[in-house]
Amino acid sequence: MNAGKLIAYIVAGILIFFGVLFIWGATADEGSLSWIPIGIITVGIGLVLIYFAARKPAAANQTNVTLKVDIPGNVTLDSLKCQSCGGALKPEHISMIAGAPVVTCPYCGTTYQLTEEPKW
Ligand SMILES: [Zn+2]
Repeated sequence: MNAGKLIAYIVAGILIFFGVLFIWGATADEGSLSWIPIGIITVGIGLVLIYFAARKPAAANQTNVTLKVDIPGNVTLDSLKCQSCGGALKPEHISMIAGAPVVTCPYCGTTYQLTEEPKW
């Protein structure tokens, strides 16, 4: 939950609280029936605020779905070959384990860490 959404919920809560107080107070002896529309409008603004605060993040979340795998820039994948069997390796054989790029060879099953400067 971001700060803007939190503020919107707090403001909406205050508006609804006072709106209900206005409607409630209108029925009291010292109250006036003209408070009822004021209360309804105040509650309505609060509900609209909650409506907009609740629907905003649904669209924003979709941009963060893809997980990026960071590969050191100087590793050239074109010449990447397995250190054990010499089989050609593709980017999908590289996975990030504990923040380091690790290669799993699909041919011989060897798993080893990628070095920043490949010697092959
Ligand atoms: Zn291999």
